[in-house]
Amino acid sequence: MSEQNILIIGGGIAGAATAWHLAQRGAAGVTLLEREHSLGAHATSQNAAILRTFTGDLATSALAHETAELLASPPTGFTEVPLLDPKGLILRLRPEDMDKFFAWRESKAHPERVRALDADELSRRFPFYSGPVEDAWYVEDEGEIDVAALLEGYLRGARKGGVEIRTDAEVEGFLRDGDRLSGVQLSNGEEIKARRVAISAGGWAGALAKMAGSKLHLEPRRRHLMVSSEDKEIDPRWPIIWSHPEGFYARPESGGMLMCACDESLISPDECTVETGAAERIALKAAELIPAVTDSECAHIWSGMRTFTRDENFLIGPDPDILGLQWIAALGGHGVTCSSGLGRLAAAHLLGDKPDDAVSRALDPRRFTVTQTV
Ligand SMILES: Cc1cc2nc3c(=O)[nH]c(=O)nc-3n(C[C@H](O)[C@H](O)[C@H](O)COP(=O)(O)OP(=O)(O)OC[C@H]3O[C@@H](n4cnc5c(N)ncnc54)[C@H](O)[C@@H]3O)c2cc1C
Repeated sequence: MSEQNILIIGGGIAGAATAWHLAQRGAAGVTLLEREHSLGAHATSQNAAILRTFTGDLATSALAHETAELLASPPTGFTEVPLLDPKGLILRLRPEDMDKFFAWRESKAHPERVRALDADELSRRFPFYSGPVEDAWYVEDEGEIDVAALLEGYLRGARKGGVEIRTDAEVEGFLRDGDRLSGVQLSNGEEIKARRVAISAGGWAGALAKMAGSKLHLEPRRRHLMVSSEDKEIDPRWPIIWSHPEGFYARPESGGMLMCACDESLISPDECTVETGAAERIALKAAELIPAVTDSECAHIWSGMRTFTRDENFLIGPDPDILGLQWIAALGGHGVTCSSGLGRLAAAHLLGDKPDDAVSRALDPRRFTVTQTV
């Protein structure tokens, strides 16, 4: 049986960012365990790669701003390619979003980069759009993330700082020492002891934590993305458009248009395949808002999991009941955008800093003092 200080379960963007921050702080005895043969194979490679720091919540927006800084100016040696294409983000908002939106704008390092869009500018910037034009805003410094390069940067830095990264390593059970979690058991029978075990297992985090005795409940929800076939009229430089009233977003991708109808349905994490009728549902909303795309064929459709707690906010920090168990999960639709910020916060908890600012308190799993029901 081997012994470690910290085990991280799950090699998606959350586990990788946490490993990177631990390495930056010089932590020793850290191992990341990923059950797949490759890293980042689930939600991390199935998302829309959009940097939208307006998450609707000031705590996660703070983590998003922190991550946006890393994306815009990564540390030396982190990446050889740009991590962000700041092609711009058009947001159409609902009246009930406005107070949160203005508070978010004030929290940005450059609030002057967010401004109202009139109908003319909206149609000049995104000529295919023909939906309602009220309450449209332009965020000029947000855009598309190179998620593969970001993941690679975290992993490279983590390895360089001494983190051991193991693939084909599936956690199947937990070790206990009295009332404390003291390690994990892998599906090959191997046991690894550790002082702290962090779960960053995306859609599987809830089931794994339950196995460890946690009472917190997580919900993986399926969402579909579709890319239309190539169309020479689509300019890859167009910004991203996100219309909250209709629940629809789109951006140019691979010569076509990547589109999402913002669907969500509860799913068992092992059954997250494309649902019948999903492409039709996306096409229906596209017909309303960007009708020029509706005639093209579906080049590619896929689905992925966004995972939530009851209050739909992240879980970063110690489990309320199980000593030695830490959460880095329930990242909903913002795990990539917030990755560096949440990784820093998770690393602080894992190193015993006991962070106690407003952001860490809002995301602390111990906010659930009443046992949740399944
Ligand atoms: C359709 C869609 C669009 C999205 N768009 C965006 C977007 O534009 N911007 C944004 O910021 N976010 C977006 N998201 C959300 C984002 O993708 C997630 O928040 C983020 O990827 C979660 O990362 P993770 O590391 O927690 O999970 P994952 O990437 O799923 O990683 C979890 C890892 O844990 C591993 N694992 C599970 N069980 C075990 C076990 N027993 N032992 C070992 N390893 C295990 C899995 O194999 C997996 O690799 C989107 C999500 C979806 C589905």
